[in-house]
Amino acid sequence: MIEPNISLLPYHTFGAKVQAKEFTTVKSENELVKILKEQPKKFLLLGGGSNILFTQDFEGLIIKNEIPGFEVINETDDYVDIQIGAGENWHETVMKTVQKGWQGIENLALIPGTVGAAPIQNIGAYGVEAKDVILSVDFINHDNLEKTTFSKEECHFGYRNSIFKHDLKGKASITSIKIRLSKKWKFNTSYGAINDKILEKNIKELTPDSLANIIIEIRNSKLPDPKVIGNCGSFFKNPVVSKLEADKIISKFPNAPHYVIDENHTKIPAGWLIEQSGWKGKIKGNVGTYSKQALVLINNGGATGEEAWDLAMTIKRDVFTKFGIEIEPEVNII
Ligand SMILES: Cc1cc2nc3c(=O)[nH]c(=O)nc-3n(C[C@H](O)[C@H](O)[C@H](O)COP(=O)(O)OP(=O)(O)OC[C@H]3O[C@@H](n4cnc5c(N)ncnc54)[C@H](O)[C@@H]3O)c2cc1C
Repeated sequence: MIEPNISLLPYHTFGAKVQAKEFTTVKSENELVKILKEQPKKFLLLGGGSNILFTQDFEGLIIKNEIPGFEVINETDDYVDIQIGAGENWHETVMKTVQKGWQGIENLALIPGTVGAAPIQNIGAYGVEAKDVILSVDFINHDNLEKTTFSKEECHFGYRNSIFKHDLKGKASITSIKIRLSKKWKFNTSYGAINDKILEKNIKELTPDSLANIIIEIRNSKLPDPKVIGNCGSFFKNPVVSKLEADKIISKFPNAPHYVIDENHTKIPAGWLIEQSGWKGKIKGNVGTYSKQALVLINNGGATGEEAWDLAMTIKRDVFTKFGIEIEPEVNII
């Protein structure tokens, strides 16, 4: 059923008061294809709305993806392959797998949103990315409305990036993904905060479940809960700069955090750049940055998406003035 003039407030995490001209939900691939066959002039597939900033009312059809599914399709002594519906909640899926003792996505616990959006920006946290477990992605191609499967290689995964953010942006509706999780545990505990928690809790032997719970604790202490403070997660991507640029910054700011990617490229945390530009925890009107993480733009109450966008552009300008680095939004701006 297509409903007119629906408020999008419950359907995105920033909490801007915007509405959609038309709104519907789909619970199966067939339902999705049926809607797409009617050729809506303007439409947007929405998951959990946690990586999106609506700067204005949406003058088209919002299709909320609620396609379910969680099926083990292959299992050996070493691993398990699972097909998961795009409308499933990502965090609930992580918890379901860790409780079964399957290892691979425990570091990605508590990332909001749906399973179908995970490959789009190749979600990542604490040294793990969705691409590390994805075998393939199923989607409906908007050009011919046929179901297509892309292997991991065809998805062209990169840092917060995939083919679905570029060549196939707005041209594909992801309906399910296939992932491989391990029964032979090999944890990624490379982040200092994880090790600190392991020591603090005196954990002798990690399990996927205990590591997921550590991640949840760390994230809860650092990031705002969108149910309490509206936000859309990290607003900007961490810029990757040339070695020359990085060396210049490090010589001026010897404590600058940085991660060498290869001999020519270095990643600088956008949160640090924003903080150094004087924006950490600063409020401007109804918007601001989070007091514990400058990378997160927050809705301080009653903010419009436009206000958030204006603030983002001011921050971007200030970072450029101070460091000569262009930071780019990670969030989808509508
Ligand atoms: C508090 C907080 C913490 C976060 N932490 C992280 C983090 O640690 N790491 C990280 O990578 N991200 C993080 N994010 C960002 C966000 O959670 C992820 O990008 C998530 O995958 C978005 O999922 P979603 O279902 O909410 O997508 P939405 O916001 O609904 O959609 C995002 C984009 O994808 C499109 N889309 C959604 N579903 C589909 C589909 N099935 N097929 C085709 N297109 C689709 C939409 O049209 C839109 O353009 C965080 C966000 C918040 C609010």
